[in-house]
Amino acid sequence: MSSSLDHEVVKSLDVLRKIYDAGVVGAGGAGFPTHKKLNCKVEYFIINGAECEPLLKADQFIMQTRSEEIVKAADIIGKLLEAEHIVFALKKKYVKEIQALKEAIEKQGVRMEFFYMEGIYPAGDEQVIVHEVTGRTVPPGGIPLSVNTVVSNVTTLFHVYEAMQNRPVTSRYITVTGEVKKPSILKVPIGISLDNCIEAAGGAAIEDYKVIMGGPMMGKFVDKEQASNTFITKTDGGIILIPKEHYLVQKNTISIAHMINQAKSACIQCSYCTDMCPRYLIGHKLRPHRVMRAMAVNNQEEEALKDALICCECGICELYACPMGISPRKMNIHVKGVLRSKGIKYTDTEIYTGNTQMKDFRQIPLARLISRIDMKRLERDIAFEAIEIKTEDVRIHLKQHIGISASPIVGIGDRVVKGELIARVDEEALGANIHSSIDGMIAEVNADFIKIKSEYSGVNA
Ligand code: SF4
Ligand code: SF4
Repeated sequence: MSSSLDHEVVKSLDVLRKIYDAGVVGAGGAGFPTHKKLNCKVEYFIINGAECEPLLKADQFIMQTRSEEIVKAADIIGKLLEAEHIVFALKKKYVKEIQALKEAIEKQGVRMEFFYMEGIYPAGDEQVIVHEVTGRTVPPGGIPLSVNTVVSNVTTLFHVYEAMQNRPVTSRYITVTGEVKKPSILKVPIGISLDNCIEAAGGAAIEDYKVIMGGPMMGKFVDKEQASNTFITKTDGGIILIPKEHYLVQKNTISIAHMINQAKSACIQCSYCTDMCPRYLIGHKLRPHRVMRAMAVNNQEEEALKDALICCECGICELYACPMGISPRKMNIHVKGVLRSKGIKYTDTEIYTGNTQMKDFRQIPLARLISRIDMKRLERDIAFEAIEIKTEDVRIHLKQHIGISASPIVGIGDRVVKGELIARVDEEALGANIHSSIDGMIAEVNADFIKIKSEYSGVNA
């Protein structure tokens, strides 16, 4: 008995070691190191295939075309976690993806469940998904593990499958869409510039644009001029080109001082921002209207300000709920930064179940959201075939994950091959290893990144 248990422990360590070696991190969010996340036992293992950000398609692509690899990884992880339930959570409209996954499950003779979601935003929020699938609320400021659950994104699972074949994370599938001539799914090396991704998608279709890294609701805005100097990491699933005068660009450029003035002069304290907040609706005491009020009266209510610390920055309050067009989300981000700099933490872990009663009546259909944020005109058909992109150089960040930066183990002039370890963290530390994503020569090493030049010239498309 004990020898078979020992065997299981060794096998678990083997799996975690391979994931650590390969530098796998959560591909759908902040990049939590996967070997750390999976070092536990839980009741539920939920595979997040919601891909709820408007216009992004790479997760859907991967579910359609890499379903066997995803199911194999789900089985390995499910056993590692000793999960009673391995649940694919995805939108019921993803008919082809569901079919592909079901065929792979049947072929492999494994037992997995499906949870079908409506086409709402933010269906893929980790804590919303846990609430939907298990009926449990992750305590504010907590993680799914506290309710006996682990959630992983489908692309992370694909990377885990690759790790089991001793192939580290050196590339990822991304969506490139919006104002490009050939909206595409690209397989790009980690560290490729945004400019090269745009070029590979046929180039920009308009002269003046901004780039959203990620989705329109939670993505980061990058100036056109910075696109050659901004690089894809393990956590980036897509880029969207939007006109410079687009509504979202204008929303994104308002200053802190202007936001505080808006809170004072335009916030009517209707509390729609709170009523529609998905975290409030799963039972968290997050009330953005109170943060706005506290800021309007010059930070007199510190207890109310602390709510900002549990905001997931989904954007519903400012891009959908607020009738005055003001920005509670941005205010929360500002307040969060101020409180964290003072070392103030959120401590109220109570769950307000009364908030959840209205949840089902306040769901936001994705189609309506897309119209509201004026993205309908940027929706494009995308062929579901991945184009593999080569590039002449990459700049690979040493911190593409939560935790400490990886330490370089190469120097200028060293020759490296694709998949070779170039920066590492100790297995016990919170962080992830980094590998070369191309064959080439190390051109620069500093505290932030490693630059590698290949012999390849230009970008293929
Ligand atoms: S929805 Fe807008 S106006 Fe209403 S309370 Fe929130 S920030 Fe103020
Ligand atoms: S961005 Fe707004 S709606 Fe979203 S979690 Fe934060 S307060 Fe709630």
